[in-house]
Amino acid sequence: VVRVSEVTKSFNLGKITVQALKGINLEIATGNYISIMGPSGSGKSTLFNMIGGLDKPTSGRVYIDEVDIAQLDAYELAWLRCRKIGYIFQTFNLIQVMTALENVTLPMTFAGETSSASMEKGMELLKLVGLGDRYNHKPNELSGGQQQRVAVARALANDPSIILADEPTGNLDLSTGEEIIALLKKLSRERNVTVISATHDFKMLNVSDQVVWIRDGLVDKVENRDELNISVGQIGTREAAETH
Ligand code: ATP
Ligand code: MG
Repeated sequence: VVRVSEVTKSFNLGKITVQALKGINLEIATGNYISIMGPSGSGKSTLFNMIGGLDKPTSGRVYIDEVDIAQLDAYELAWLRCRKIGYIFQTFNLIQVMTALENVTLPMTFAGETSSASMEKGMELLKLVGLGDRYNHKPNELSGGQQQRVAVARALANDPSIILADEPTGNLDLSTGEEIIALLKKLSRERNVTVISATHDFKMLNVSDQVVWIRDGLVDKVENRDELNISVGQIGTREAAETH
């Protein structure tokens, strides 16, 4: 269970303070697939950084399986980030000087996996995202969508129990996007992985157990699966998501 309690986040930029999050409360059950939707600048990526322990809230708490992550020591926090959570970032965050395979094996190396085991698993994961033949390519030798898929493979490296995905289909064509969504859904269903995904992609709503609408740093509305009224035919646009 991921629980976000009264989380606020302010950024001080000299004379200006940006209040990115203004008191977010959320409870996400283990194994659920959650979509977080909301306009650009509403605070989705900031919220991800808080849940993933990549940045600290200004106030409020984040609990993962009832553990307040602010209370973790450096070692425990590193363990959480490396073993428990898989991250897919909006801007990929691949390491440019490393090949696709090296990018995917890196988290396993951090986790202490042997090089042969991590290479084998890395190849498996690259095949899973359809890039078995591109393992030796560096990010600048891959298309945006291919880089996104490497990022997905890397996020799965240590069999995380939570995947935080920031616009995982934002740079993909329709069919690749559908494949990635199906893959994430399969992980959540078959392996009880909790998937929390920020998205403007209405296809994502079809597989979501819950949709959290964020507006201006606050939760506007939470809809459960049975309340969602979106069919595959109604694939929305970015504008549609933003004017909700
Ligand atoms: P998008 O859909 O465009 O990715 P988002 O919902 O992810 O948007 P955030 O990136 O969380 O939005 O940004 C929320 C607000 O916080 C924005 O106003 C942004 O300018 C501000 N912000 C985010 N990160 C920082 C930072 N490091 N320093 C200052 N302001 C920031
Ligand atoms: Mg964002």
